[in-house]
Amino acid sequence: MPLYLYDTWHRALRPFEPLRPEHVGMYCCGPTVYDYAHIGNLRSYLFEDTLRRVLQFNGYAVRHVVNITDVGHLVSDGDEGEDKMEKGSRRAGGASAWEIAERYTVAFQNDLRALGMLEPTLWCRATDHIPEQIDFIAALEAKGFTYRTDDGVYFDTSRQDDYGYLARLDRAGLAAGIRVDLGQKRHATDFALWKFSPADARRQMEWDSPWGRGFPGWHIECSAMSTQYLSPWFDIHCGGEDHVAVHHSNEIAQCQALHGTRAANFWLHGAFLQLDDAKMSKSSGDFLRLQRLIDRGVDPLAYRYLCLTAHYRKQLSFSWSALDGAAQALERLRHAYAGWPDGGRRDAAFIDAFTREINQDLNLPRALALVWGLVKGSLPDADKKATLAHCDQVLGLGLPGWRPHRLAIPAEIQALADAREQARQARRWDEADRLRAALAEHGYAVEDSVDGMRLRPIAQSAIAHSGLC
Ligand code: AMP
Ligand code: ZN
Repeated sequence: MPLYLYDTWHRALRPFEPLRPEHVGMYCCGPTVYDYAHIGNLRSYLFEDTLRRVLQFNGYAVRHVVNITDVGHLVSDGDEGEDKMEKGSRRAGGASAWEIAERYTVAFQNDLRALGMLEPTLWCRATDHIPEQIDFIAALEAKGFTYRTDDGVYFDTSRQDDYGYLARLDRAGLAAGIRVDLGQKRHATDFALWKFSPADARRQMEWDSPWGRGFPGWHIECSAMSTQYLSPWFDIHCGGEDHVAVHHSNEIAQCQALHGTRAANFWLHGAFLQLDDAKMSKSSGDFLRLQRLIDRGVDPLAYRYLCLTAHYRKQLSFSWSALDGAAQALERLRHAYAGWPDGGRRDAAFIDAFTREINQDLNLPRALALVWGLVKGSLPDADKKATLAHCDQVLGLGLPGWRPHRLAIPAEIQALADAREQARQARRWDEADRLRAALAEHGYAVEDSVDGMRLRPIAQSAIAHSGLC
């Protein structure tokens, strides 16, 4: 069955064909590890994990490469402002930029596991690939694509007629509308390949280079590492939609200049998660991370379920009530699944219909609707179970491994839960919320469903899904 993917380069759905039979190379821009990931970032990684699962479901062997940006990424896309790693280090009062990078890399990887994501085939850190980035820049220089200023080495975007095609950038309009001082930069779209350290200060992260001591620009790490670990021309490059205009346009410019390719045959982008109608941003300092969901007693996989309910190219507005709805739906699905007997057979017609949906540019909302049709339908329960176990390879909800918790609930916890239930029935929401928080403090989450209220120990669930035990 053909697999259609929406390619941002062509702005169209295209049938996917791998460049090498049965193998897919996929590069995903990883996090800048100067802080925790927020759940918006995690939505992008969930989309990429789902894409990988769909590719595998279609029988492809996927080489999934994710980088860790642990160096020299400036606060603004315009090569201005502060270095994020040094900023993180200062905020942490004492911890070095290297320690900060390690701390948030581990936290990020734990988040991915908690969300049931498959481990990438390969992680690569920018700081482990400085020589490769220097070589890439030197090769661009040899081809005449660079120039120097007092503060660094820049890529000259005027050398490429189709620079910014991915973003359908209007360069003439952009140049005419420029109000900011470009300094020594020749064109607004030119970007740093290498930035010099200040003459009078030492940076925590800096390296010698043919151009002077400093650190690489952000875009060059992805071009250098995707070339090294996939090739100058590979199958799929992914990221969030914010990367289209700058980061990915610049990666393409670098690869075009050096290799004559647009790096990847398909460019896929996930839409943003919105919170209160505003973009959630790490640099705003006030953002929602996965741990806050867990602290409120929400199973991380409920967030995965929530993301499955929206198409990856549509923005998704986050709300606690939507998350609660997802948690309840997931719990119903788990209980249905766990209640069915083993020993059934997969239903081929259902798998076909399910595949048709996921192969239509990852239409997971429709695939999920089919799953509910299966749950409520008339197939023998054992066959439902075998069929759903197979589909869970794409959903990633961990249904086959899930077990209902049958724990004795301590009397005082039950009393709190009963009081909360009474407050809820009486629509005393503040009190109900306060009691829910009190239960969370005691390590219990409350889940309301059509079948009534259920208590679930938080830590156990979080640990069980984090892959740490
Ligand atoms: P960063 O650590 O800022 O480089 O971002 C890591 C990934 O998260 C990138 O693919 C971004 O495009 C993506 N991203 C950032 N903010 C959001 C958001 N609100 N919703 C979805 N993805 C996001
Ligand atoms: Zn990148």
